[in-house]
Amino acid sequence: MPPLERDAPKLYRRAMDAVTPRKPDFSRFRRVTVKVGSSLLVARGASTPRTGWLKTLVGDVAELRSAGAEVMVVSSGAIALGRGVLGLPPGALKLEDSQAAAAVGQIALARLWAETLAERGIVAGQVLLTLRDTEERRRYLNARATMGRLLAMGAVPVVNENDTVATSEIRYGDNDRLAARVAAMAGADLLVLFSDVAGLYDSPPHENPAARLIPVVERLSPEIEAMAGGPASEFARGGMRTKLEAARIAVAGGVHMVIADGRGDHPLASVARGGDSTWFLAPSNPVAARKAFIGGSLEPKGVVHVDSGAARALAAGKSLLPAGVVRVEGEFQRGDCVVLRDGAGRDLGRGLVAYDAAKARRICGVKSADIEAVLGAPGRAEMIHRDDMALAAGA
Ligand code: GLU
Repeated sequence: MPPLERDAPKLYRRAMDAVTPRKPDFSRFRRVTVKVGSSLLVARGASTPRTGWLKTLVGDVAELRSAGAEVMVVSSGAIALGRGVLGLPPGALKLEDSQAAAAVGQIALARLWAETLAERGIVAGQVLLTLRDTEERRRYLNARATMGRLLAMGAVPVVNENDTVATSEIRYGDNDRLAARVAAMAGADLLVLFSDVAGLYDSPPHENPAARLIPVVERLSPEIEAMAGGPASEFARGGMRTKLEAARIAVAGGVHMVIADGRGDHPLASVARGGDSTWFLAPSNPVAARKAFIGGSLEPKGVVHVDSGAARALAAGKSLLPAGVVRVEGEFQRGDCVVLRDGAGRDLGRGLVAYDAAKARRICGVKSADIEAVLGAPGRAEMIHRDDMALAAGA
């Protein structure tokens, strides 16, 4: 493998580390899915819901809608509410018992949301889904159409897994992943996962008081996965593990996701203000994300001047070959960001250069086939690959 290709991920990571990613501006989101965990709606050991808190969340939902966003809810709590009503003991339930609890609790849960939303003049629509509804195409299209229709009518879909009929082999079992699937299915641009943790920490916060909350995750790397603990850790269902799985589903579906501690009043307003949380950013696609990053976030280390033939080739979506380079300015390393400039002094865009400045100077104007002869070692055919380039609009 040529050296740059081998080093590319490393170089890219180094470049990524150089910028501090920001939390997105909340006001840009147009279709928001809010996931509420059982522990928020029903206090541990209690059988009645936290209605005062829910009113504050619904107040935030109403605000968001007045600002022009559509909102849908994925709410857990059916089993938690139902087990209280049925007087079932604490601890894990047998499948039949959790199905019975869900049957009882879902009525209460739907009523709770419908009444609380109605206080703000908002209509709720209950949507109960099974795994098959989101994974089989015909059912998926059907569920998506219903959700779209509810939103178009100004209602708030309130979604849960249909626990009463979902059996162990074919159920989500956790609403984090369900919410991610539903958000992607409904074309949401943001999923807010409210739970009783502030987000993802760089080490387990209950073991390490110095654990730091990670504000933004741009890429789900193995290092990030490791922070959530293995599948066999105490964070099993509904824990950080499933939240990361949810993040993977969400970002792959083009949905940004944010995890925040929802226990306090007005939790949505708190996230919107930039409060403690972990954001997982969804690139529209990896190349587009890379280009956006190259175009917007790096401090260029030099300038590569190109001739008119190369400028035309770039505009046509081609890579920059050494043959089209007139001269280079600056002291850059391989993988650094440089400005592309044409003969008239116009900046055409930016790119990550495949050669360091010394080598780049030696191969200006050299045909790709002659690079090896000039440098005494094989090198990449392109000075800047098209995927590593972000051209200015109109360039
Ligand atoms: N669907 C379950 C319920 O409503 C909750 C699953 C979960 O806690 O993630 O009780």
